[in-house]
Amino acid sequence: QAGRGDLPVEIWERVKNHPCYSEDAHHHYARMHVAVAPACNIQCNYCNRKYDCANESRPGVVSEKLTPEQAVRKVIAVATTIPQMTVLGIAGPGDALANPAKTFKTLALVTEAAPDIKLCLSTNGLALPDYVDTIVRAKVDHVTITINMVDPEIGAKIYPWIFFNHKRYTGIEAARILTNRQLQGLEMLSERGILCKINSVMIPNINDDHLVEVNKAVTSRGAFLHNIMPLISVPEHGTAFGLNGQRGPTAQELKTLQDACEGKINMMRHCRQCRADAVGLLGEDRSAEFTNDQVMKMD
Ligand code: SF4
Ligand code: SF4
Repeated sequence: QAGRGDLPVEIWERVKNHPCYSEDAHHHYARMHVAVAPACNIQCNYCNRKYDCANESRPGVVSEKLTPEQAVRKVIAVATTIPQMTVLGIAGPGDALANPAKTFKTLALVTEAAPDIKLCLSTNGLALPDYVDTIVRAKVDHVTITINMVDPEIGAKIYPWIFFNHKRYTGIEAARILTNRQLQGLEMLSERGILCKINSVMIPNINDDHLVEVNKAVTSRGAFLHNIMPLISVPEHGTAFGLNGQRGPTAQELKTLQDACEGKINMMRHCRQCRADAVGLLGEDRSAEFTNDQVMKMD
């Protein structure tokens, strides 16, 4: 039986209230992120650690970091004020799975306090295979994995290092471990019925042509949605990509690539690259109404 947008009914039921997974829903339903995950286990050349994880967010935005207890108070305050808030995500400011204690404690507290809210998290995927069971037990509905390459030679231009099994790896070796772990994690989640969105950052002359390959690789491993986002070039990226820094793609370049990937998998085209403490409808930022100080006053 078909649901809306040619999706099977059981899948439609799971995505219809999720503003990122359903383009229809993003006009009516709100999401919120809580910034409980400051640490990261890899280095992306486009990241500046002073700010939120650029895999999910606009670079150059600093979110207010919260403890799990502060985060759940904020969730309750937002859910009371904005009844259309259906989804809670953990999207940084670092990597959700590089901060497992904080991430899973927050998810458990939210489930206890507000069991109807859908849970999602974003990760670079390095630690993902180790946490698939924990993610399933935590009743996470949706996971976003940022996958920028499936070719370690390209990966070496994007990731200067990763930290894995208590050791730092660099270059092609680092990128090979990362891509293997990302794809393995995606397959494991797909097998367990968790809906996976893949974020890819389009970086001209580095991975732009290659993202069609990434699209095929993630489609064949059961990804539900592919979100190709433009690199937002900022001076803080410095010269990590080359002597003259790195430009982002034009709107036309982005659309051409998204069109080339359109096929078996849904392409997300309404991503707003939200902050790690975003609150509200996509494209609407109400985070300033729900700072920790304000939430304390609402109690
Ligand atoms: Fe920065 Fe996110 Fe990359 Fe970690 S995964 S280095 S926080 S952009
Ligand atoms: Fe959704 Fe994109 Fe915002 Fe993430 S960054 S919450 S995918 S719109």
